Amino acid sequence: MLNIEDSSQVKKRGFFEPKGGGFMRYTTKVLKCRRIGDSYSVELEKCEFYPDGAGGQLGDRGKVGKSNVLEVIRENGRTILKVDKELESNKEYTVEISENRRFDIAQQHTAQHILSRAFENLFNLQTVGFHMGEEISTIDLNTLSIDWSMVEKAEDLSNEIIWKDLTVEIIFEDFENLEKYDLRKISEKIKKLEKVRLVKIGDFDVNACGGFHVESTGQIGLVKVIHFEKVKGKYTRLEYIAGKRILNYIRTLEGRERKLFEITKASKDDLITKVQKLLDNSKDQKKKITYLVEDLKKKVILELENDPIVINDIKVYTYSSTTELIEVLASIFQKKEKSIFLGFDLFKNFVIITCNNDELGANDLIKEILKNFEGKGGGSKKRANVVLQKKLTIEDIEKIVNDILDFIKQQHF
Ligand SMILES: [Zn+2]
Repeated sequence: MLNIEDSSQVKKRGFFEPKGGGFMRYTTKVLKCRRIGDSYSVELEKCEFYPDGAGGQLGDRGKVGKSNVLEVIRENGRTILKVDKELESNKEYTVEISENRRFDIAQQHTAQHILSRAFENLFNLQTVGFHMGEEISTIDLNTLSIDWSMVEKAEDLSNEIIWKDLTVEIIFEDFENLEKYDLRKISEKIKKLEKVRLVKIGDFDVNACGGFHVESTGQIGLVKVIHFEKVKGKYTRLEYIAGKRILNYIRTLEGRERKLFEITKASKDDLITKVQKLLDNSKDQKKKITYLVEDLKKKVILELENDPIVINDIKVYTYSSTTELIEVLASIFQKKEKSIFLGFDLFKNFVIITCNNDELGANDLIKEILKNFEGKGGGSKKRANVVLQKKLTIEDIEKIVNDILDFIKQQHF
């Protein structure tokens, strides 16, 4: 993706040469250091840090002395570093810029040039947006219709180009000579420049760009699109990863897969069948529970109706079972005049209360419970529930019921 703030800056930055890990080091003076909130804003005499977000690219990270660079901000032609520890003004410091990060950025950026050209060559689709993230990067294509078979063709072509190990050249060219090249896009920014920095990938692609790129395409290793979706009503956003990020991605997937094998006790060949079976079983169980609840509900209603606790003309019914049954009972007793129903699920520490009574509210009774037990809940005057933090015991239920009966007794109707 093209973006150049000014070509002299870009020229200084030069072409990225990975040295295999470590840091790029130099010494320079801290001109200013100001505290801003929890961090410090620093200006260096000589600043080689690439700014965050310039050209859609990630910025450099590293150290100035013992201070870690948290952000690299480009402001009015100056580069300001946000660091975590204070630095002394007018003092010389060793500056370290992470080469591993630069290499990762170069892999992602060069991969973008290749993918963008692949979609253009194969399907005549143009790249209209690019964003590099810390974990994944995105390319916006000017289409809404894309499918995985198209994506795979573009991936195949891109990886062929990567494995051909084509040389990536940086060319500084006069603006008037640009017509010699088959550039993918010429932006308004470029039109203002005398010299334009071009990134040429063999005879496959050439485009104006100010960011970091690998020396030859083989250094990218591999590129993979991992997701795509429609955006802004007219574009398709591709999420892609390249280089070592693919290794990290596979490790995450593998970890997830191993966890799935562990939980399901499945093997590689029957994981999907086993998960499907578990889901089907769970559906079956739900159906069985609904059937059992229906069957049981009639018996429980009879039993409860024969033996209510009566206080001040109000009939109180209590029952402990599974949430499925007590919720059904709650719905039935909610309709009975001058009644209160208290339902408990010991496994889920769940209490449901219904109140069919003008003077008392189910939510008030829940508040009574919350005076002695911690939990989260609420509801209306008619129906309320709570999940308690404590593991409920039979004794707890007895206490809750007695407290509520006392509370009802104290009400003067
Ligand atoms: Zn680029």
